[in-house]
Amino acid sequence: SHNAELIAVGTELLLGNIANTDAQMLSKGLSALGINVFYHTVVGDNPERLKAAVALAKTRADIIITTGGLGPTCDDLTKNVLAECFGKKLVYDEESAARIRAYFDRLHTNRPMTENNLQQAYLPEGCTILSNDWGTAPGCAFEADGVHVIMLPGPPSECAPMFEHRAAPYLRSLSDGTIASRTLRIFGMGESSVEARLRDRMNSMQNPTLAPYAKTGEVELRITAKADTLGEAQALIAPVEKELCEMFGPLVYGADVDSLEQVVAMHLKLKGLTLGCAESCTGGLAAKRMTDLPGASAVFKGGVVSYTNEVKQNVLGVPQALLEEYGAVSEQVAAAMARGARKVLGCDLALAVTGVAGPDPDDRGNPVGLVYVALAAPDGVRVRTLHQGMGRERIRITSASHAFDMARR
Ligand code: ATP
Ligand code: MG
Repeated sequence: SHNAELIAVGTELLLGNIANTDAQMLSKGLSALGINVFYHTVVGDNPERLKAAVALAKTRADIIITTGGLGPTCDDLTKNVLAECFGKKLVYDEESAARIRAYFDRLHTNRPMTENNLQQAYLPEGCTILSNDWGTAPGCAFEADGVHVIMLPGPPSECAPMFEHRAAPYLRSLSDGTIASRTLRIFGMGESSVEARLRDRMNSMQNPTLAPYAKTGEVELRITAKADTLGEAQALIAPVEKELCEMFGPLVYGADVDSLEQVVAMHLKLKGLTLGCAESCTGGLAAKRMTDLPGASAVFKGGVVSYTNEVKQNVLGVPQALLEEYGAVSEQVAAAMARGARKVLGCDLALAVTGVAGPDPDDRGNPVGLVYVALAAPDGVRVRTLHQGMGRERIRITSASHAFDMARR
């Protein structure tokens, strides 16, 4: 299979002025195409060092993708250097020149095109031109010395659509056959445990392949298959998917879905139920994540951020006696918050989260990471007790995720 190296060209990347987000975007895109990325290289606007980087990449990759340095200014040297590295001349492409002129006519009426913009119409001889509908500099692709070279513009607003609409189809046409993949999402088991369970199985697999990825509190399992047709690739994936779903049972919360909250929203919609939440230590994160979903208003009624005892009491109606006897971080208060939220928000299901996100234990000596998550439903309240690792942000994210995990069942 193919392996790619990304070479980002730009001194501003080395200076730390900008982050190499193009590389992140490309790596994701390439892995979705089933292409391994083995190296990310960053090099400044310096022809000698870029030459050296390309020479090295040629020894260890069969796809080289560069970003940046395609523009009209003199520090934009990528095409010149790459053409030289592969013994190609740059030739003037009339059609690219016309496109560049047209782009300026369309968008830059008050910024006239200068002649050096036409520099961008010089492209390596015999290349496939990747026309740029999102900016001026065209990209290009060619094969030489057994390596596929693709050059893309640097600005992320150009690089991303150029990859999706130009480079990805080019790359797909290289591989004979099709690649299909399916991603299962697991919540409630750490990455190392998931991997330990899968290790033997994974090593014996050739097609499809199986790859786990850790996310905050979650694990993604990607099954990727290659075959002559999409149908055949999907047929290879199906039995493995079934096997994994049996292996991990209800911990698998979805396939090819974006998030737990998305699954919750789908589940609620299907059942015609509404949701609300009462949040203490997550400070509105659960509500934020629900409302990140377009169309959430169909199922999500709202939330209360009840950070203090007063608000727990006055808004949610948590009895003062409970707060005094058990403290705000307790199973009892979590349950009362959920019940109260169900009532004040008028929803079918209500989530509640109360706990210690840290960095310090609370005044009752509850340890950092102790969180109670409750779900109130018409038939009663359930509470989950969590003991989580350190890290305020992480604790908050996984607490909200646990709440969603309860709501989806
Ligand atoms: P232009 O035609 O705009 O000059 P270009 O292809 O020559 O495009 P550069 O000049 O290298 O690209 O970069 C233009 C801008 O794109 C940079 O100032 C930076 O904001 C952004 N950029 C470049 N490379 C990257 C990268 N790897 N990741 C994120 N942003 C980048
Ligand atoms: Mg530039």
